[in-house]
Amino acid sequence: MVTESTSHVIRLEETDEEFSRAVIKAFGKNLYYCFQCGTCTASCPVARFDENYSPRRIIRSAVLGLSRLVLESDLIWLCAICNSCTERCPRGVRPSEVIRTIRNMATKKGQVHEFYVNQANAIANYGRIWKNEEIVNELRDDMGLPQVAPVSLVEIAKVMDATKVKELLAARDGATEK
Ligand code: SF4
Repeated sequence: MVTESTSHVIRLEETDEEFSRAVIKAFGKNLYYCFQCGTCTASCPVARFDENYSPRRIIRSAVLGLSRLVLESDLIWLCAICNSCTERCPRGVRPSEVIRTIRNMATKKGQVHEFYVNQANAIANYGRIWKNEEIVNELRDDMGLPQVAPVSLVEIAKVMDATKVKELLAARDGATEK
């Protein structure tokens, strides 16, 4: 995975017109309205913890077609989809939705982050993102909360089939082996 540098010289040969067109097709010309004010990055709770994380920079990189810098970056996976940027963007760019679309593109290329792979596998195996229900139920007991409801792994498998999650994870394994 590529890690984003705070300074990056843009070379024409690095630009990927197809990627840029695909993002713009998904969001329309709104993306061109971004005037790099930085409201999204200033509003972002993740950017407070990682100075390399900048929705503003991701938007500009996507418009310029810097696919490698965006799709292969660990940074796109940091977004918590809290939508603070989308609520505050004065130009209606919807950065959190753009980042989610870019993640979907990366996933289809087999470049989903390992963290999400682990979560998907946990959901497939346990129906939740954690294994040990007893610990959670003990904590809930202490707080006077009801026990967590049982999960049907059969239903989870149906959802995973319908959403092709396993195929996407297999694509990642194939990409990793290359
Ligand atoms: Fe661009 Fe909107 Fe972010 Fe400002 S808040 S940099 S206009 S995406």
